[in-house]
Amino acid sequence: MSSILKVTNLSKSYSSATGSLTVLDDVSFDLAKGETFSIVGPSGSGKTTLLGLCAGLDRASSGSVEVCGIKLDALDEDDRARVRNQHIGFIFQNFQLLPTLTALENVMVPLELRGEKGIAAKSIELLERVGLGSRLHHYPTQLSGGEQQRVALARAFSNDPEILFADEPTGNLDEETGIKVEELLFQINKEQGTTLVLVTHNMELARKTGRILRLKGGKVIELTESALAAQA
Ligand code: ADP
Repeated sequence: MSSILKVTNLSKSYSSATGSLTVLDDVSFDLAKGETFSIVGPSGSGKTTLLGLCAGLDRASSGSVEVCGIKLDALDEDDRARVRNQHIGFIFQNFQLLPTLTALENVMVPLELRGEKGIAAKSIELLERVGLGSRLHHYPTQLSGGEQQRVALARAFSNDPEILFADEPTGNLDEETGIKVEELLFQINKEQGTTLVLVTHNMELARKTGRILRLKGGKVIELTESALAAQA
């Protein structure tokens, strides 16, 4: 199996006035390229923390994370940013678009930062791929939630990531719009082979992914194959 994400004995603690609080405790799992994977569990169980560590947004207290064969733990912030730019896409529940920029400009930002050429044409193509060819010059406030999440998805795909992390990608969307965004995520997984790692409260969405990891109090209490994967 070619592993695209390998998490080994990962723990994260925060120190506070009253001592140390362990929010992730000895988490291990291994993901193959092209897999779809959900992280579920009650609020405060460590899902977002785990996703952030896997995506190199934060640093673990102990254990290791390896993305596309690169160990993140030993890297400084600049090198981790480089790995994110090259291999990783990320979308958030609240979209995190820049409000003063149009849809097109939001997608162009990471391409510009990477010094790419032909960024307007590439950004238009990315927005067309998520069905937003007619919304290029709209600002985030002029777009629906589903449209904003699709702009975020186009932006996350600007570096052709091997792995996409999504934190509650449909959490702020109504059911119908959420399903459209889900369909887009799974379509990208099928067509491009992009590995998907989702944090979600939505068990219907989680069951559509190949495997589900359940956290409670920072510990893995279950790592299942979904019914869907079992049928395949
Ligand atoms: P979930 O995504 O499952 O709701 P989180 O990963 O956001 O859970 O948070 C897990 C726990 O870590 C919570 O108890 C939260 O309060 C705590 N936590 C998260 N970030 C910090 C931080 N920067 N400092 C202290 N505690 C934190």
